[in-house]
Formats: sequence, structure tokens, C-alpha cells
Amino acid sequence: MPLEVVSFDMEGTLIEPRFSELIWEHDIPRLYAKRRGLTLEEARRRVFAEYMEIGDERPEWYDIEYWFRRLDLPGDWRELLEARRGVIRPYPEVRGVLERLGERYRLIVTSNTMREFLEVQLEGLREFFTHVFSAPSDFGEVKKTAGFYRRICDIVDVEPTSMAHVGDHWRFDYLTPRSMGMEAYYLNRGGERRGIHIVHDLEEFEARIRELDG
Ligand SMILES: [Mg+2]
Repeated sequence: MPLEVVSFDMEGTLIEPRFSELIWEHDIPRLYAKRRGLTLEEARRRVFAEYMEIGDERPEWYDIEYWFRRLDLPGDWRELLEARRGVIRPYPEVRGVLERLGERYRLIVTSNTMREFLEVQLEGLREFFTHVFSAPSDFGEVKKTAGFYRRICDIVDVEPTSMAHVGDHWRFDYLTPRSMGMEAYYLNRGGERRGIHIVHDLEEFEARIRELDG
């Protein structure tokens, strides 16, 4: 079946992960240190222990509002996102690839980042996408499961076999969507893996898509 929709993961695929890393690993521990009168090192140790107690299988892990409550942090979490806006960087080839693929296909984002982060991180790229999906915010799911992809296909009104997807998580961006018949590719920006469905940047992904579609 001809391709109609091309789906992208966000962090590590369209956008460098630095924005989220700074917020979760630096800013939140810094606020916690300030609140409790701890050194940054001690605060980081305790905050990471709290993160581990919840774990990434539970929706709270992704919910910054929850963490502000749980850790009793001062201020508004929105200010953190605002303060870090300047470090958001799309990978260098992203805009060109979206411009070219957007002429032929409907483009969407399928992410497991919460919507509040997505909206900030996609600023400047939002115009390229007909839909932006967040697994935790839109469907209450913490991972990109087969059910998540199925609901997206329903909403976008496309058969899985007419959809391509690319992302940097082996299971959630490659194995799961492939198992449903989607034309999924694993993005390995580090370049250490090779294989039939492995690409190393989005220009390579674009070339594969064009080959498929003649
Ligand atoms: Mg990713």
C-alpha cells in the first residue's frame, strides 16, 4: 500500500534530549536543594532515589506537576520550561527533511513525552505536523504500545501499512510498530548499529521512504 502518513518520535529523533535532561537532572534537584537547605549533590541523590521509587512504568514518572507536589518544590513548574526554552535544538537535518516529506505525506509526532513539554519543544516545528500525540497526556499510557499506535491510526484514519515511523527506541519505535505492519525504522544516531531497518539520521530515513514509494 502506498504511504500516506509519516510519524516521528520527538526526543532523540527530532529534538536533542538536552532540554529534558536539564530540567529533570539539574533544575529539579537544584530547587529541592534550595527548599531543604541541602548541597546540590545531596539533593540530586535524594531526588533520583525518589524518581526510582516511582519508576518509568508509572504515569507519574512523566508528570512534572506531580513531582513539584511530591517534592514540595517552590514556584511554578512552567517557569522551568520557560527558563530552558533556549536550549531546545532540533537536529540539523530536521527542518529540511520535514519540508520535503511534508510536500508528499501527512506528518505526525508520536511521543511519550507529556504534552506540556511537547508543546514547548516543538515550537518552530509545529506547522509541519497535522497531529501531535502524547502517550501519557492523550491516552494515559506510559509507553508507545500497540494499542497507542492503533488509536493513532484510527484518529489519523490510515491503515498501519500506509504509515511509516522513525524513532530512537528499539522496542517502542521499531519492534512494536513493525509488528503491526508499519514501515518502522530504528534511528541510531550514534552510528554503531547497522541493519536493514536501521538509519543513522533523518536524511537516511527520507531516502529509504522514497525508495519504498518509488
Ligand atoms: Mg526518543
